[in-house]
Amino acid sequence: MVFTDRAKTVLEIRYLLKNEKGEVIETPEQMFHRVANYVAQAEELYKENSSEWAEKFYEVISSSRFLPNSPALMNAGKPKAQLAACFVLPVEDSIEAIFKTLKDAALILQSGGGTGFNFSRLRPKGDVVRSTGGIASGPVSFMKIFDKASDIIKQGGARRGANMGILRVDHPDILEFVRVKRFESLSNFNISVAVTDAFMEALFKDDYYPLINPRSGEVVKKVKAKEIFNEIVESAWETGDPGIIFIDTINKYNPTPHIGQIESTNPCGEQPLLPYEACILGSINLSKYVKDGSIDFQMLEHDVKVATRFLDDAIDVTHYPVPEVERMHKGNRKIGLGVMGWADCLVELGIPYNHKKAFALAETLMKFISEKSHEASQELAQKRGVFPNFKGSLWDKRGIMIRNATTTTIAPTGTISIIADCSSGIEPYFLLAYKQRILDTEFEIINKYLIDFAQKQGFYSEEFIDELRKKGTLRGIKAVPLKIKRLFKTALEITPQEHIEMQAVFQKYTDNAVSKTINLPQRTKKEEIGKIFILAYKKGLKGITIFRYGSKTGTLLRVSDAH
Ligand code: UDP
Repeated sequence: MVFTDRAKTVLEIRYLLKNEKGEVIETPEQMFHRVANYVAQAEELYKENSSEWAEKFYEVISSSRFLPNSPALMNAGKPKAQLAACFVLPVEDSIEAIFKTLKDAALILQSGGGTGFNFSRLRPKGDVVRSTGGIASGPVSFMKIFDKASDIIKQGGARRGANMGILRVDHPDILEFVRVKRFESLSNFNISVAVTDAFMEALFKDDYYPLINPRSGEVVKKVKAKEIFNEIVESAWETGDPGIIFIDTINKYNPTPHIGQIESTNPCGEQPLLPYEACILGSINLSKYVKDGSIDFQMLEHDVKVATRFLDDAIDVTHYPVPEVERMHKGNRKIGLGVMGWADCLVELGIPYNHKKAFALAETLMKFISEKSHEASQELAQKRGVFPNFKGSLWDKRGIMIRNATTTTIAPTGTISIIADCSSGIEPYFLLAYKQRILDTEFEIINKYLIDFAQKQGFYSEEFIDELRKKGTLRGIKAVPLKIKRLFKTALEITPQEHIEMQAVFQKYTDNAVSKTINLPQRTKKEEIGKIFILAYKKGLKGITIFRYGSKTGTLLRVSDAH
């Protein structure tokens, strides 16, 4: 097992067990054993051999072919082993309910999870408060309290708190919400507008749509859809926030509508969840499956099945910080297996990220992973039973007896991709040479595949590396053959349409959603961002996040920060 210096540092700071003096007391190998052994204990519940499964789990994890989300790596085997990365909590319109949710959120943060909230049930600013005769301060004011609380608690005592704040586009305070990041950092929040089909229709017809007071159901006023849309674009152009979630598209694919409507996602947007629901994620490292110029589908099938079982087991051994979440997660048993190392995989195959072969392969691979994880979930259902809320679900209607209401999600893999030393999620490379600071140490990362190509193809030299360091990309570096330049195109050299297309092909075979940042050059015009949002809607995406290079951001959760 070989780790980069950067991976070793991340592991030491955040993942490896420490004693009371703060000294690291396990090796990465021991950590992977701890995770595999702990999760495999669940097998005993089903009268299976846990040590046999512990070995299988260890094998896929220690070879960096599969890694579960960070909380599973950090917390497995600890007294309060909370293994899920993603949570959504409801926010009801009363002081008591708001602060109950804040308390639950604090417990989730402390356990290492990230939480999403939809603030749309809160009455708007200036509305009546009968109990005190006062006036309401509105959703944005409460978001600020949640943000402050996250500042102080920090996730798992280590990483900064990650939250998603959502407001429906028809809430009367929508403008204040859309603009908030222009004026306040709210640094523990990503924000997204929940856009409806009705809003999009009004936008296309250049029509008005109603803003509705959630307390009374009254139409407060009608506004031009375009006016709000332009504000969303303006703020996104300036700060990257808000993103958009297409809430009706999300609910069209809600596998358990009889249990509730989905109203929010987790912090990075890839996991739509019901109120009080959680999800455990894990990612397959696609860079490990290229053998002699093609994909080793046999090994992929094996690993997808082992990983699916690992994630299902993880639910049974998770200690949930909030009882309502335990009930809901064990009712639907959502898991989210995804991929990372996609850009690496393409380079190994010699296919540029924006080539039509890349889109075709993305579809083939994700279809395969989706099918195999559904098969694995069906096999588990035969022995362990279907998920308890199965009756009345979309799976029930399709006659598919499955153990998990969802099995696939594409996560950002911000940290686990560093541990596995692969490119993150399905993103293209952001830069081919860059520096990253982790606590006191600065790391220089130069794309390992590029160095390899340069040496083999004879364009490696000190001057080449110096130029690469300065530019970060191959653009304008004379020594590099055109073919290599195409193969190593970075995020800003790929068009927004191509970024969206990649997100769309992966989404097609993903039960939950896909984490993707549409990275844009600084010069990008506002109108172009509007067009990107509309294209995302028309392509059937569940959500969209853009980031214009050089725009101000108070949020550190963007994948592009890590890569
Ligand atoms: N997450 C979080 N805090 C963080 C990073 C991630 O709460 O600092 C949660 C959040 O729900 C996010 C999910 O973990 O959407 C997956 O993020 P990522 O894949 O980057 O996590 P990793 O497992 O690589 O740490």
